[in-house]
Amino acid sequence: MSGADGMRIFDSHVHLADARFAGMRAQVLARAAEAQVNALLVVAAEAADWPHLLRVRRRFPQVGVAFGLHPWFAHGPHALLRLPEWLRRGQALAVGECGLDFGAGRASRAAQEALLLPQLKLARDMDLPVILHAHKSEDVLAMHLARLPGLRGVVHGFHGSQQQADKFLRLGFYLGIGAAITYPNAQRLRALVASLPLDRVLLESDAPDQPPFGRSRPNEPAFVLDMLTVLAELQRISVEAMAELTWQNAASLFGMPNTMRLNDGRLAAAHAHCVG
Ligand SMILES: [Zn+2]
Ligand SMILES: [Zn+2]
Repeated sequence: MSGADGMRIFDSHVHLADARFAGMRAQVLARAAEAQVNALLVVAAEAADWPHLLRVRRRFPQVGVAFGLHPWFAHGPHALLRLPEWLRRGQALAVGECGLDFGAGRASRAAQEALLLPQLKLARDMDLPVILHAHKSEDVLAMHLARLPGLRGVVHGFHGSQQQADKFLRLGFYLGIGAAITYPNAQRLRALVASLPLDRVLLESDAPDQPPFGRSRPNEPAFVLDMLTVLAELQRISVEAMAELTWQNAASLFGMPNTMRLNDGRLAAAHAHCVG
């Protein structure tokens, strides 16, 4: 990409602990740095991910972490109780990934709410943003958020309606934009994303899930360049300006601690032997 020197891109949502990245994490981070994706927020889905994330965070200065309990998984009775301690130990930038998913075959609404609501309250009490997963649940989720004034965060991989987007924006939430917008047939979502306020959008890979249009599996943070390019096109601003805006949005939502800093390819390569 010419003229892109000095561009910095923030991948606000990546599952680096996922087993599909086993043995290739260092290379994945090196490729991200080459693609100027030089800050990543690594999110957890289960308690088993937490120690792994802590190791990644210690070795890679460009990685921030979030600990949470995802609605797709069954969690042990102590996972919720241990969450505050892990958030502190890991100097987490957010609580997540958590949320509600009312797709077929998922846990009951009551069970999911029993898992989510304590995490929302914890985020508010610890003054941390929350990273939310929403599928066929946007209205219920917005209702819960409205009951917790002061809570802030992002609805990641947003794919709801305009009305639902407006609800989350009115609540002060950010919307995470991922690979879905790169698919030419995603007309409705693309039209919605084209008019989102620029100070409320975050870029995300959600890797290793859903790669962008035309890319092979697994998805990885370097591919955020594709999301960035389409987002810039839809919003009719330059790729460089969009990279900077989404960087600033992520930095402002998650805070940018001193330990997390800009990285370059050389540093990532130097660390390449550390994590498998
Ligand atoms: Zn999700
Ligand atoms: Zn996710």
